[in-house]
Amino acid sequence: MSNGPYYHGECRCGAVTLMLCGTPLALGRDCRGEGFSFWPLDTLQFGMGLEEIVARDVSDQERRLACGRCGETLVVEHERVGVLALPGDVCDVAPGEAAAKDRVHGELHALGYHLDA
Ligand SMILES: [Zn+2]
Repeated sequence: MSNGPYYHGECRCGAVTLMLCGTPLALGRDCRGEGFSFWPLDTLQFGMGLEEIVARDVSDQERRLACGRCGETLVVEHERVGVLALPGDVCDVAPGEAAAKDRVHGELHALGYHLDA
């Protein structure tokens, strides 16, 4: 287990809470301009509301976990490349806190994200 920084997040209605233990890989935006932070798969733990989560497979590269009460997307899983994308509305990460690992930058570009410098 890491003793690194912790980040907390929750959906709009507060039914689902989550925690991220570690350092974000990068910050960026999707093709619609929505802000995301990107994380290794093993950094995410859910707190309350696990039973509220609704999973939807968008494609073979993308699975979305949303709150069943308010409908907000909590996590976008890109399991094949080993990355989770967290909407900025769910988990707010300040610029400069990301690790900026070059390997995932290429993978995230391939998934359609534009990364912040
Ligand atoms: Zn909710």
